[in-house]
Amino acid sequence: AQRNNIMAARLVAETVRTTLGPKGMDKMIVDSLGDITVTNDGVTILEEMEIEHPAAKMIVEVAKTQEEEVGDGTTTAVIIAGELLKNAENLIDKDIHPTVIARGYRMAADKSIEILNAIAETISKNNEAEILQKIATTAMTGKGAETNKDVLAKLIVQAINQIAEGNKVDKENIKLEKKIGNGVEDSELIQGILLDKERVHSGMPTKVENAKIALLDMALEMKGPETDTKIQITSPDQMQGFLEQEEKTLKNLADKVIQSGANVVVCQKGIDDLVQHFLAKKNIYAVRRVSKSDMERVAKATGAKIISKVSELTSQDLGTAGLVEENKVGDEEMTYIKDCKEAKAVTILIRGGSAHVIDEIERAVKDAIGDCIAALKNGKIVGGAGAPEMEVSRGLRNYANTLSGREQLAVQAFADAIEIVPRTLAENAGLDPIDMLTELQAEHDKGNKWAGINVFQGKVIDMMKSGVIEPLKIKTQAIKSASEVTELILRIDDVIKGSSKDGKMPQMPHGGMPPGMDY
Ligand code: ADP
Ligand code: MG
Repeated sequence: AQRNNIMAARLVAETVRTTLGPKGMDKMIVDSLGDITVTNDGVTILEEMEIEHPAAKMIVEVAKTQEEEVGDGTTTAVIIAGELLKNAENLIDKDIHPTVIARGYRMAADKSIEILNAIAETISKNNEAEILQKIATTAMTGKGAETNKDVLAKLIVQAINQIAEGNKVDKENIKLEKKIGNGVEDSELIQGILLDKERVHSGMPTKVENAKIALLDMALEMKGPETDTKIQITSPDQMQGFLEQEEKTLKNLADKVIQSGANVVVCQKGIDDLVQHFLAKKNIYAVRRVSKSDMERVAKATGAKIISKVSELTSQDLGTAGLVEENKVGDEEMTYIKDCKEAKAVTILIRGGSAHVIDEIERAVKDAIGDCIAALKNGKIVGGAGAPEMEVSRGLRNYANTLSGREQLAVQAFADAIEIVPRTLAENAGLDPIDMLTELQAEHDKGNKWAGINVFQGKVIDMMKSGVIEPLKIKTQAIKSASEVTELILRIDDVIKGSSKDGKMPQMPHGGMPPGMDY
């Protein structure tokens, strides 16, 4: 079971290895319906792949954790895990007990974090903008966004500066909206929120300056009764009265909005035709069925309060925006809520020639946003291109020499495994990995801690100086998650068929064999 688990996990890691770095290749994933995804993003590849082996699934978890914690570095985390397992297998072949390896790995992982913290550099207030720009550019190098990475990096840094409240930066407050058409260079930053909605009524204005925005998370419609109800009407008068009453209720809803002084309504639920009519008559712009997350963003951007009862809406609950307008983007009408003063939520509108292109750009932009936020949050950065990995593996080798016993071998194996990052960067660029690693080693021996592989020229240079910069958190998180999952897999000596938690028999994916025994 142990060999089988290690094998499966390594195979998964091997699949994404060729995508690492600026010269990494992409994967085309075709699902059962024939839909395709073209991507260079580790976690996307692993999520889209149909993986059933339990140990292989654990590797996918590593990528997901990395994605949640940082947003980038998913490939790095996975290939480190794969290499740790490979080296562990060699030690098992030499009759070293898996628990000893796991213990050694644990020690090595702790030491690695220590080394990384020691070599990391601190961002200062006066170079912050420049560093963030470099981090964003590094994250997008070699991705779909490559050719326009400078334009996009600028938008990202602007967006982050805008939404940052001290050290608190929430990526939820940067909305990414995609629209096919034009080129990537036409992507823009909107000081406010772009809603993929048109105004509800053609009688409403298409443009409202100095907007006062009401945010309602209730429906501007008649409430249906909670239970099944029947109304018996015996005369036409009653019918008329009933309809009049309904109209009055609806008019009342519209009046409440009008009285608050709002000239724009953003509603999370539906708006009745009649209410639309009353609002249109007063030149009020309204959109409906806006998602909850967008409601929250509009609140952040405009300072509006989300109101659940229209009768309680007052002028103080309204938000403000310089302009709300309906605009055609591509071939669809969208609502721009823009020119917000001190918007604490903004939108990046990504343009591009086709859906596949835009999707891949969005993933690269997300990676870049994650990296910048991680760097801002803990204020520490490292050079990239294999430099920190080289420092870690050097440090671990020195550390191993201070140990005795079998753990020493495990720590050495860990040090070797970390070198998979520079080695893969070289291999993917068509460079000779042995030459590059030797050169890299020599530079680090001279004390040049940010020496990394320039994959475009096949040279070893100082990455901090040449602007290939990443947040410290990418590296520490990748090593932590990779070593944790490796230890977990190493400690498993048997896979046992269990009944599923809801009491039903587990589904058997292949030919009726119990799960875990047939791969
Ligand atoms: P991940 O999913 O791990 O982020 P990437 O494909 O984004 O995988 O590759 C990240 C690796 O590429 C990092 O080790 C990073 O230092 C390296 N890298 C990024 N930009 C450059 C560059 N310009 N030159 C060399 N290496 C780079
Ligand atoms: Mg990356």
